[in-house]
Amino acid sequence: MKKHALAVARALLWPGLFFACLTAVGTGLASGAPAVAFNTTYLLLAAALAVLERLMPYERQWLASDDQLLPDLLHTVLTKGFVQVVVLMTAVIGVADVLAAEGGVWWPRAWPLALQVTLGLLVAEFGLYWAHRLSHEWPILWRFHAVHHSVERLWFFNTGRFHVVDTVVSLAFGQILLMLAGAPRDVVIWTGAATAFIGILTHCNVDMRTGWLDYVFNTPRLHRWHHSRNPEEGNSNYGENLMIFDLLFGTFLRPERRSPVNIGIDGPMPRGFLGQLAQPFQRDGSEGLVAEPSVGRPSPP
Ligand SMILES: [Zn+2]
Repeated sequence: MKKHALAVARALLWPGLFFACLTAVGTGLASGAPAVAFNTTYLLLAAALAVLERLMPYERQWLASDDQLLPDLLHTVLTKGFVQVVVLMTAVIGVADVLAAEGGVWWPRAWPLALQVTLGLLVAEFGLYWAHRLSHEWPILWRFHAVHHSVERLWFFNTGRFHVVDTVVSLAFGQILLMLAGAPRDVVIWTGAATAFIGILTHCNVDMRTGWLDYVFNTPRLHRWHHSRNPEEGNSNYGENLMIFDLLFGTFLRPERRSPVNIGIDGPMPRGFLGQLAQPFQRDGSEGLVAEPSVGRPSPP
């Protein structure tokens, strides 16, 4: 009986947490305080995941310290701060409204909001998918993205560990596409919030079961394969929120077996924050890369 209850809890965790967070942001938007609602919800979600990781970890080994708390935190503060400033500026300045006034944009404003947000996620995802894929396949971009892949354990805390240049690249691909399409302010905020919630859920070390959701959303199960040290496995599942483009372009990977514990990169990576920021600009004396990008295609599951 207890086993069944646990299985149901594992299956309900991902959708339950995701939709609870969306509801909270919706309430905040309705009351005119989206930023406060988003930040409070995000912190509560992080706290809930911290507890769940202790109670029901996917990988017990990943609970041990990796000595990267401070760099993880500083990268997160720098990149999340940057993202929020850009998203808020976009919303405040109303870039979409300006573009709409010029008559140069298309957006189905008459559609129900939920459909507009779905469209917003799809439009942004096209840019995010290619930004991520190119970050693995182009050596110059991999230098920056390697900072994220240098983690040796996945847990909620290192979700935001991105080199700030890596974040700028993703924003340029995803956000600009959304703006050019003329997405209104609320759609931009909803898309940003959904991306943040899916991101932290994807990284968490909680033993949740996602089943068919893996074919729609980016989930912890899929993202653990993306962090594999083996390029055959790691060069897959580039989707940030949705898996549609991985499915379309043949990079979707979902083997039935357990994902690898030994994750990370083979190249060197400094242990300190400033060293990690500087690393992509340095040459290591040979190829000049922090680590070779993985260019193989994933083998079929
Ligand atoms: Zn990656």
